[in-house]
Amino acid sequence: MWQALDIETWIAGRRSDLDRVKGPVSEIIGRVREEGDAALIDLTKRFDGIDLEEIAVPDEEREAAYDQVDAQLVASLVEAEERISRFHELQRGRDLWLQEMEPGITLGVKTTPLSRIGAYVPGGRAAYPSTALMCTVPAKVAGVAEICCCTPPPTSPITLVALDIAGVDEIYRVGGAQAIAAMALGTESIPRVEKIVGPGNVYVTAAKMLLRDEAEIDFPAGPSEIAILADGTANPTFVAADVLAQAEHDPNAACVLVTTDAALAEAVGAEVKRMAAGAARRDIVAKALDNSGYIVAGDLDEAVATVDGIAPEHLSIQVADPLAVINHIRSAGSIFVGPYAAVACGDYASGTNHVLPTAGYARLYSGLDVNHFCRRSTVQMITREGLEAIGDVVETIADAEGLHAHAESVRVRRRG
Ligand code: NAD
Repeated sequence: MWQALDIETWIAGRRSDLDRVKGPVSEIIGRVREEGDAALIDLTKRFDGIDLEEIAVPDEEREAAYDQVDAQLVASLVEAEERISRFHELQRGRDLWLQEMEPGITLGVKTTPLSRIGAYVPGGRAAYPSTALMCTVPAKVAGVAEICCCTPPPTSPITLVALDIAGVDEIYRVGGAQAIAAMALGTESIPRVEKIVGPGNVYVTAAKMLLRDEAEIDFPAGPSEIAILADGTANPTFVAADVLAQAEHDPNAACVLVTTDAALAEAVGAEVKRMAAGAARRDIVAKALDNSGYIVAGDLDEAVATVDGIAPEHLSIQVADPLAVINHIRSAGSIFVGPYAAVACGDYASGTNHVLPTAGYARLYSGLDVNHFCRRSTVQMITREGLEAIGDVVETIADAEGLHAHAESVRVRRRG
């Protein structure tokens, strides 16, 4: 239940789950590598309890899915897709930019979308049409030619509709580590991809980590987390509501309140207890709350340092002067500022991406955006005048490195 936390122990606990499943996940990957589709069928029977007749979802099933989804939900998904597209369009750089650095030397960057990517949309405990949009819309905006998606069976019509709205090319009903292995290695039904993105449980996340040599991966995006940085001005009911919203995701989800005000920690605890008792997913919430609690910091600086140590997936800032704090935060996947910025807004519809690094990986990685789906090539155009300007420097350093052919490749041009 909601408790005072020792932060070092808490951080260590967030990663240990991944190490625990690496053995079984390696076995799953080995089977997909050797047996292809046959392994997918067998593992789906074992882990999802489903006899897979078709791995790929046919177009007719996608179209029929609209009949099974409430019209208002379809309209909401369309609006969410538009908002996500609009924000991600802002991240798109120019396809090619060139800048004359000095006479005769022009440098720039050419951006090229990846050709084929794979998105994993989780589906074990709940349908995640929002994640379907978050994983695929940035790829579409980036200009990726082929977007494929794996999601565990039974495939929810809501997820199919969301993937269709996003314009995904192929949908496969495979989940877990076997889905990641299929996209990274390729099987008879699922052609391999260049990059895999998307969140999932510990099996999915471990598979992504183990297959990094086969396909590029985004980052570990496992069970959800929130850190709330709050002072005595925060509204305990709003804070508790964000805690509950995170806790209902997964038994391994975790929520931490870092506050300068012990009375707030107590008030939030009482609200969390009250809300948890009435929660629709109270079993999941209860387990997640076992991983959750509060830390009382001596002052705001100490609180900020604690949050930085956590490097949370989501950070909610509920203090009197949030802009004074935000510049001091160095590691957080996505930051929500002020009492009305419910994390759920970013989860669904404000337009920012909810696929974010978890388990402290926000220290190393940034959340999903358009840049994840592009590669960049530097470009240089050098005239004879430009070569004269840098020729001596190039020749001198090349000769010093003993790479005389490098130096000669410049000399021959300057002589000619
Ligand atoms: P999931 O799709 O990630 O996993 C379901 C699959 O797990 C199954 O298809 C099965 O193949 C595999 N599996 C289950 N038990 C197994 C076992 N014992 N051994 C091997 N494989 C097994 O769905 P989920 O389990 O509901 O988890 C979704 C996760 O995604 C949650 O933790 C949620 O918090 C997280 N999530 C994160 C974000 C984010 O942006 N970080 C967004 C949405 C969801």
